[in-house]
Amino acid sequence: MLKISDIQVVYNQTPILDQFNLDIEAGEIVGILGPSGCGKSTLLRAIAGFVELAKGEICLNNACLCNCKCFMPPEKRGVGMVFQDNSLFPHLTVAGNIAFGLTKLNKTERQNRVNELLTLIRLEGMGNRYPHELSGGQQQRVALARALAPKPSLILFDEPFSSLDKALSEHLAVEIRQLLKQQKTAAILVTHTQREAELMCDRYAGLEDVYANNWIETAA
Ligand code: ADP
Repeated sequence: MLKISDIQVVYNQTPILDQFNLDIEAGEIVGILGPSGCGKSTLLRAIAGFVELAKGEICLNNACLCNCKCFMPPEKRGVGMVFQDNSLFPHLTVAGNIAFGLTKLNKTERQNRVNELLTLIRLEGMGNRYPHELSGGQQQRVALARALAPKPSLILFDEPFSSLDKALSEHLAVEIRQLLKQQKTAAILVTHTQREAELMCDRYAGLEDVYANNWIETAA
């Protein structure tokens, strides 16, 4: 489904991610661990289309997202993203946030999809609230719903729990795993917390171990 072949990103003549490979199956949830600065976010940015490749190729569902000849813009890639805290649009309601990427649907279809997602994340009746009227955990569930809304085949999670306490992070990791599996959506979780990867992912590895294809399968 996602095929990353021999990629390299270069910042100011310094290579980050050199000859990096990763294959992800449809619906699979993969975790990538590693200390700050090792290149985890750069990997996600390359997949999402926020940074260009110096070498290699990324394909999603057999379509080329980027290589030395082509570059598909981020909005055309069909890849969802969930960041750390404060990623919701503060001036939009919960429903407005979830509907944000649903530009191809008419009004009724959009409302139906938003209601479906509010039920999925157990926030029925809260569509008219604003992000600041929600708890941190609820905000991250809305961020997930916004990413899931256009039915992407892949969602990228960049340290999604870093502003939440340990108990809530672990609870959400399990809940998000269930939602992703229910929606048959593949995901990459980038985190520096091993426990989150154990709870949310099918397999995980430190960024360095990905080069050696040295993965830890989880019992989840
Ligand atoms: P991580 O997500 O693992 O913390 P990053 O992918 O953000 O790591 O960064 C990897 C390395 O690339 C770091 O050394 C960082 O300083 C550098 N870097 C990240 N973004 C840029 C940029 N836009 N320009 C130059 N260097 C960058």
